[in-house]
Order: sequence, then structure tokens, then C-alpha cells
Amino acid sequence: MIENFDLGIVGAGPAGYTAALHAVSRGLKVVIFEKDCIGGVCLNRGCIPTKAILHSAELYEEMKCAQELGLNCEVLSVNYSAVIQHKNKIVEKLRKALELSIKNSGIVTVIAEAEIKSANEIIADGEVYFCKNIITACGSSPKKIKGLEFDGKFILSSDDILSLEQLPKNILIVGSGAIGTEWARIFSAFGVEVTVVEMADNLLPLADIEVSKRIERIFKTKKIKTYKSTSIQKIEDKNVYLTNGEVLQPEYVFVAAGRVPNCIKKMEGVTYLGDMCGSIQLAHFAIKQALSYVEGVPFNENLVPSVVYGNPEIAWVGKREQDLEEGTYNKSLMLISALGKSHCDNSTDGFIKILSNNDKIIGAHIVSKEASAMIQQVLIAMQNNISVSKLKEICFAHPTYSEGIFESLFKL
Ligand SMILES: Cc1cc2nc3c(=O)[nH]c(=O)nc-3n(C[C@H](O)[C@H](O)[C@H](O)COP(=O)(O)OP(=O)(O)OC[C@H]3O[C@@H](n4cnc5c(N)ncnc54)[C@H](O)[C@@H]3O)c2cc1C
Repeated sequence: MIENFDLGIVGAGPAGYTAALHAVSRGLKVVIFEKDCIGGVCLNRGCIPTKAILHSAELYEEMKCAQELGLNCEVLSVNYSAVIQHKNKIVEKLRKALELSIKNSGIVTVIAEAEIKSANEIIADGEVYFCKNIITACGSSPKKIKGLEFDGKFILSSDDILSLEQLPKNILIVGSGAIGTEWARIFSAFGVEVTVVEMADNLLPLADIEVSKRIERIFKTKKIKTYKSTSIQKIEDKNVYLTNGEVLQPEYVFVAAGRVPNCIKKMEGVTYLGDMCGSIQLAHFAIKQALSYVEGVPFNENLVPSVVYGNPEIAWVGKREQDLEEGTYNKSLMLISALGKSHCDNSTDGFIKILSNNDKIIGAHIVSKEASAMIQQVLIAMQNNISVSKLKEICFAHPTYSEGIFESLFKL
């Protein structure tokens, strides 16, 4: 037994590092174990790298319309390996900043695979660390599907896809959840021929039905081919046989069919946070769980926003319309094209849909530029029980997308 700690944390992703930083600032002696990179999936292989690449993709797509906006941009091309280098720089910069803030805060960092021996003991590199309390925040990994085993060459995971140095001519994406949808939009913006296969009856199966229909329309506009209620029957010699009888020959198959919790032996008396809990696998959920554990900040697990990035963004919170009984709710649906700002930004696609009951918002579903920011406004009202009537008293700036929320209130 080498040292005593108040808190030992296994995994330095958003759940682990948030818990560590807050615990140490409350005067606790903290040790954190990480077997790979500080920052976890979110910083190294998830949220941040994908959004960095997405930004290049969106800008490229926007620049194609430069002339419409009075700009000359005659020579436009993509240097994808430079896009990846740019992404790597951002990830490295943020990782270094995080490593520094962990170091400066006095947290002891052990870069090694850790094992929980008991509710008070962690073993790493052959040493035993005694901890009054232990958190495991080991995250999740891409879900493996029988017959679609990742080989890093033809059948790719969300980790493999990040290391492609060149854009493919075409790609088949299996799954239209947030990760599959984001990558479909990235590749398509860069001019790659994209096909999406979704086994559910709708794209983005966890979204409100009208959002699913809209993303289908957006995919159509962007010439992304989609197969719904379809899955992969088998793959032979790079021929992909779909359950609908079609055979495709993509350059790559990218399997984005969910993530499974990383399992390390579960033990009584140990706290589990983040993706490894297997419920909501989002960075902000992991962070809130960690804050709730360390700081005791109350946290409503039913009010966690979902965002699918891309152009336009998609964001939602609360009830979906298909889960509500007819006649038990009010609904407002407003087109983004009704907002002056959307025309100024050349981004008129989308809608704001708000569902209410008894003067209270119970769900919001937004497809729009800046949807990720707008959903927070609705969420603040929902979390604090601010009624629709009270919200109408707020003055929203003009011209903004948020005005759309304000105007929607009068239709409820
Ligand atoms: C492509 C992609 C895009 C995403 N985009 C978004 C997004 O835009 N917004 C969002 O909210 N979420 C997004 N996510 C999800 C987000 O990344 C996760 O929800 C988040 O990282 C979970 O945080 P965590 O701390 O639970 O686990 P992780 O971030 O997975 O961190 C767990 C850490 O534990 C370490 N570890 C595991 N076992 C051990 C061990 N035995 N010893 C030592 N260390 C160990 C791992 O190496 C890892 O670093 C995305 C995910 C992917 C894959």
C-alpha cells in the first residue's frame, strides 16, 4: 500500500476529470488513473475531434455558395489530411490544457490501467492505492455487431474513421443515430457519396417523428441515400448484402450502431459515472453526474438535452410528440424561414416545435442553425417551471433565431 487518498478515480474522461477537479478544489486528496489519454473519448475520439472536422466540412459547403453572397471564391478544394492535422492540433491543445489544469490542481495522475481490488483499493502498475471513496468512470466502446466485426481497413468504427487520411469516394454508414448522422453530413459536405442504412423505421430513431422526417428530407437534398427498416445481411468480398435484397460495393463500411459500457468488475461501495452506466451516453450527462456526486448539485435526469451537430443543427429535450396521447397537449410549429436572421445567414431550413401542457413546456424539438444554443433557453424554462405566460414577458433580441422560440409561445 503506497499512499492514502480521499478519492480514487478510474478513467479520465468527462466524468472522471470533472469529479477529480471539483473534489480537489474542495480540499480532497485525489488520485486519477487513465490507461490511454487524459480527456477520454469526448476529447480524443468523440465530441471534440468530430466537431473540428465538421466545422471544416460546413465551411467548405458554405463557401460553395460564396458567389450567392457576393464573394468570389473560384479555387475551392479540400486537403483532407490538412483537415485531420487541424483537428489533431485542436485536440492536442485542449488535452494539454486539461493535463496542465489537473497537474496544477494537485491531483495525482497515474497513467496506467487500473483495477479495483475492493471498495477502498485500486491496483495499478503493481501498486495498491488506498482510497476512502472510489469512482469508476471507464466510459464506453463502439458496439460490435456479429458479421460486421471492425477490421480497421474495410469495416470501420468511430475510432478508425478519425484516422482516415484521405476522403473516400463513397462510404456506407450503418446506423443513423447522432454519430452516424453527423458523419453522414461531414462526408457529404466534402463531396463523398454517402449511403445510410438504418434498421429502425425512421432516421434518428430517438428523435421526435417530425425531426426524423426532416432529417430524411435534408439527407435527400444533400443526395445522401438512405435505407430505412433495413440492415446488413452479410458481407462477402467487400460486397455488402442488405436485407432488402440490394448489394452495395462501398469503399468503406462505417458501423455507427451504438456504444457499449466498458465493463470492469462492479463492486458494492464503488460509484459508477458516465457512459459506463449505460443509460444516457453523452458528455454533459457524465459531467452532471460527476457534479452531482462531488458537489451535491441536484440534477434532473429527465431533462438532458440531445444535440446532433451539422447544418442545420438538431436539438431536443423533453417529451416527443409520438409518445403523447392526442388531446393532452398543445403544439406550436414554426418554420425557421419565417425568421429574418435565417435569410441573412442563408440558412432557412428547419423548424421550432414546442409542446406544452397546462401552460408548461413539456418538450421542444428544434432543427435550425444554433439549435444547440436555443434548446438551452427552453430547458432553463422547463427545469425552473417557468410557465409559457411568464416566458412571454421576456424580451428576445432581434434579429435572432431565439425570436422563433418567443413567437412559438403565442401559438401554444
Ligand atoms: C464520435 C463520437 C462523437 C460524440 N459526440 C458527442 C457530442 O457531440 N456531445 C456529447 O455530449 N457526447 C458525444 N459523444 C459521447 C461522449 O464522448 C461520451 O458520452 C463521453 O466521453 C463519456 O464520458 P465518460 O467520462 O463516461 O467516458 P470516456 O470519455 O469514455 O472516458 C473513459 C476513460 O476511462 C479510461 N479507462 C477505461 N478503463 C480504464 C482502466 N481500467 N484503467 C484506467 N483507465 C481506464 C479510458 O481510456 C477513457 O479515457 C460522442 C462520442 C463519439 C464516439
